[in-house]
Amino acid sequence: MDVQKKSKKPMSQSTEIVTYHLKRECLYCGKPLPDQYSKKRTYCKEVRNESGTLIKDCKGIYNRLLDQPELEVHREIIKEHKTVDEMIEAMVAKKGSVVSTADLNAYDIQLTSSLKYKISKNGTLESDFMKYTIISNPNLNTHKIYSNG
Ligand SMILES: [Zn+2]
Repeated sequence: MDVQKKSKKPMSQSTEIVTYHLKRECLYCGKPLPDQYSKKRTYCKEVRNESGTLIKDCKGIYNRLLDQPELEVHREIIKEHKTVDEMIEAMVAKKGSVVSTADLNAYDIQLTSSLKYKISKNGTLESDFMKYTIISNPNLNTHKIYSNG
């Protein structure tokens, strides 16, 4: 029985070529999207089970998230970043615009909680917060703070 099952290959699958050169990703879950998908498609294909119920629906979930008038998750992020910005502000007022890693730790400022970050070729790390950008030099262990305003 088992041997027979394995040797049964559906023709459609063996001829289908899937490539990922375009490096497109699902907007919701971040999974790579095959180049063969239509250019307009920005989500995974939806998947239904035998009874027709949606079991994978990245587009639907994402749109429902966006539709919520006050998205809880988003509000939490804003709240957190306001606090980080407040901490940075307090630190700059006391320590100036160039600080050490110990200073960051003392003020509980975590670079990993930045909105986005960028590592440049010379090894410095740029962490963007709402009001401030912190450029970190891992060799010197210094962090320079720039106001985004
Ligand atoms: Zn997806």
